[in-house]
Amino acid sequence: MTSSRSSHSEEVPASSTSASKASESRAREVVPLEEEHERLLALADVSSQIFWTSAGIEKSVGGLPGWMDFTGQPPEALRGRRWLNFVHSEDRSHVEQALARGQADRAAFSVSFRLRRSDGQYIWMLGRAVPLLDANGGVREWVGTSTNIHAYRQAQERASFLARAGEVLSASLDYDATLAALARIPVPALADWCILDVLGPNGQFFRAQVVAADPSLEALAQEVRGLTPLPHARSTYPPTVALVEGRASLLRDVTDELMRQAAQDARHLSIMRRVGMRSLLTVPLLAHGRILGALTLSSSTSGRRYDEEDLRFAQELAHRAALSVDNARLYREAREAIRLRDEFLSIASHELKTPLTPLSLKLQSLERSAEAHPDSSLAPLVRSTVESGRQQLRKLTTLMNGLLDVSLIASGCFELRREEVDLLSVVRQVVARLTPRAGKFRAPLVVEANSPVVGRWDRSRLEQVVTNLLDNALKYGAGAPVVIRVTVDNGFARLSVRDKGIGIAPDQSRRIFERYARAVSERNYGGLGLGLYITRAIVEAEGGRVHVHSALGQGATFVVELPLRS
Ligand code: ADP
Repeated sequence: MTSSRSSHSEEVPASSTSASKASESRAREVVPLEEEHERLLALADVSSQIFWTSAGIEKSVGGLPGWMDFTGQPPEALRGRRWLNFVHSEDRSHVEQALARGQADRAAFSVSFRLRRSDGQYIWMLGRAVPLLDANGGVREWVGTSTNIHAYRQAQERASFLARAGEVLSASLDYDATLAALARIPVPALADWCILDVLGPNGQFFRAQVVAADPSLEALAQEVRGLTPLPHARSTYPPTVALVEGRASLLRDVTDELMRQAAQDARHLSIMRRVGMRSLLTVPLLAHGRILGALTLSSSTSGRRYDEEDLRFAQELAHRAALSVDNARLYREAREAIRLRDEFLSIASHELKTPLTPLSLKLQSLERSAEAHPDSSLAPLVRSTVESGRQQLRKLTTLMNGLLDVSLIASGCFELRREEVDLLSVVRQVVARLTPRAGKFRAPLVVEANSPVVGRWDRSRLEQVVTNLLDNALKYGAGAPVVIRVTVDNGFARLSVRDKGIGIAPDQSRRIFERYARAVSERNYGGLGLGLYITRAIVEAEGGRVHVHSALGQGATFVVELPLRS
């Protein structure tokens, strides 16, 4: 095997080498050198790359036509190391390092840098070079290309800019914080000035943010902040155009004539002149078909001129920003609605509770009248009516107190009055109070405990916790015995209330501790969904925790743990 392969390998290359040599010499005869040279130059011409050779740089510029075209420079300006003057100052040192490394390693290298084009704009290039070696292995000459990668670099930079913007914009749901973050994003990378105008809920314009790249211009920025766009339908002031019509504007070169046309009044014109606007673009912030605001970018000292590409990019940024601004706006509105609801509930529960005291007094006096006339034929009816009236009054009072507690918790005015309390005695007291009710459900309340469990807690709030849990165990307990255990566990007083009722689905077991949260249909079970919310608020204010173990149809065990302080 080995020998046959080696004989094969000896034979074939020999014949192929002679064949290729023959064809090469034929080609040399057919294609004269000048023709080949011409073809190479034409190839270089049609390719989008700039070709160069170090011989071209150092001696003549025969190898540099692309460089001359691109930079608009005569050969002398590029010769030797002078071409480096057209590389962006921030990129020059790493280009020089790449050249030195290539020279030392005598190996091909590539480097990206910005090169000044004939119109003064810096364009991203990818330079690649290959060494041609002499007989001693030294570098005889370098041959290279410079490829315009500006569009690619810009796309890359813009993608990472948008990603960063996305992070900044999603950092907060606060409306004002989102607007402030948005206005800072484009400065200074895209603009010397960024102005953010928003449309208020009543349709009025409002200048929310003005950011200047140069911090020493803060006083002028303050004046720009005072220039709220006026809602003139025929205005050419770009922020007004965006806010009224939802249209973007691109003013490539802001001339004094343009400023005069756009200015809302003389003061506005003078401020625009002082800002020294050179180029400007405004894009509307649109979300769900609504105009939310206008983002204006303006260049001044940087001399940057905006183009269609910048406009498209600003629109992309505005699109993302608008969604964040809209979310923040909706969040603010939702919070305001919740605040109004809580305020209403607080006032309503106070107002509704007020007639309960005189009503209770009336019932008392009615009862006394019945006692004063025990022989009256109406006495039994009055007594039973008073009793059921009392029951309804108690229910109503409990509901009202629940609502009042919720507004206390929401406003942060929830206070505890701590004293030495035996949890077991609180449990027994509540059990005694609820025994008649348990009788109606045919669900005995069974207390399992060995000894008192004493700590410093708010007694009446603790009573409320035990009442809420036992009430629920009876209500949702399907008429089976309810077992209440009081123990001490690892520095905590532990109260557990176990029923054998309808149970709770696992995905609801956290939610039921939220305000107004219920896991049952209101047709089957009444309630406001506040008992467990208040329970949790009390337990957490005491420094403890509450949770539930349950599964649907398997009953529920609520566990409260309270720190034992003495
Ligand atoms: P309410 O009982 O007024 O609805 P709660 O805050 O006390 O309000 O309870 C919230 C929800 O938790 C109830 O609507 C019910 O779905 C569920 N829940 C509470 N306790 C139990 C229990 N012992 N067994 C089953 N579900 C319960």
